[in-house]
Amino acid sequence: MRYDDSPPPPESASSVSPDRPWYARRSTLAVAVAALAPTALAGWVLTQVLTGSGPGGQPPQPKALPASHTAGAGAGDAKSSTTTPSPAAPASASTSASASAPAAPAKGPLAGRTVVIDPGHNTGNFKHTSEIDRQVDIGTNRKECDTTGTTTNSGYMEAEFTLDVSRRTRTLLESKGAKVVFTHDADRPWGPCIDERARIGNEAKADAVVSVHADGVSAGNRGFHIILPATVKGGAADTSKIVGPSRDLGERIAGNFARSTGSAPANYLGSGTGLVVRDDLGGLNLSTRPKVFIECGNMRDAKDAAQLTSPEWRQKAAEGITNGIVGFLGG
Ligand code: ZN
Repeated sequence: MRYDDSPPPPESASSVSPDRPWYARRSTLAVAVAALAPTALAGWVLTQVLTGSGPGGQPPQPKALPASHTAGAGAGDAKSSTTTPSPAAPASASTSASASAPAAPAKGPLAGRTVVIDPGHNTGNFKHTSEIDRQVDIGTNRKECDTTGTTTNSGYMEAEFTLDVSRRTRTLLESKGAKVVFTHDADRPWGPCIDERARIGNEAKADAVVSVHADGVSAGNRGFHIILPATVKGGAADTSKIVGPSRDLGERIAGNFARSTGSAPANYLGSGTGLVVRDDLGGLNLSTRPKVFIECGNMRDAKDAAQLTSPEWRQKAAEGITNGIVGFLGG
C-alpha cells in the first residue's frame, strides 16, 4: 500500500506526460518490432531505422520498449530472441575475453551497474508496531518509521508479495550482470525505517532504485501505478536532481510492466497513465538516486488479488520491472 494512510494527492498535470504517453506509443512500436524480430536480417533493418537515415537524423529512443524486449505480451519466446545484429563481430571474438580473468567479472548489459531493490514493509512489522510507529525525519516532514502494509482478504501479506517479487527481480537483474542490493531480505525483525531505506540506495550509489509495493484500497479499484518523486527541498530532502531521471525510470517500468503482466494502469488515480507524483514519501524525498515506487495492483480487489497471489504472475511482474530498469540503464 502507499507508505502511509494519508489520501493520495490530487491528480495534477504533473502526473501526466502528455508529450510522451508510453501507452500510446507502445502498441505501434510493439507491432513493428515484433514484425521485425524473427530474423537477424530484420533486426539489421530495425537498427538502420533506429539509427536514423531519416530526415531528422536523430535516432528515436523508444522509452517503453527496451531492445531486449522484442514482442508484446504473451510472446513467450521473445525474451531469448535478442538477436542483436553484429555484422562485423565473428564468434571467435570472445576467446580473448574468456582466456583471462579467473574471477570473471559480471557480464551482461547491466555489468558495472548497481540496482537497489526495496521490498516494501516487512512481514515482522505487525509484531513491532511500537518500533515502526516512531517518527523519523524525512526532510520536509516527520513520518512513521515504517508501516505494516496491507493484505489480501485471505491474508496474503503485502510484505510477502514485495519480498517475492523483489527476489525474482534480483535473479533477473543479476543474470544481466547487475549488482543488486536489497534494503532488507527477511533478515531483520522489522523495518528498516523509510529514512534508512533511502540511505541504503544513496550509499550504494545506485544507478536505479525501485521500491516494490501493492496497494490496499477498496474493491473495484484495479491496476498498477508508479509513484514518482515530486520536486521537494527541505532539511535532508532535495529531489531536484532525481525528478527527471526518476520519471524516465518510472515510464519505462510502466510500459514494460503493462506489457509483461497484461495489467492496465490504475483506474483510480493517475488519469490512466499509471504514473503519480507524490511529495510525501520519505523513501523518495530522501533519495539522491533515481527512484520510483511501484504499486503492482490492489490487494483488496479480488481480481487483482488473484494475480498478486499467483507465482506465475509475480514472475511476469518481475520481468516487467527488470525490463524497465534495463531500458532505463541503456542495457
Ligand atoms: Zn506498501
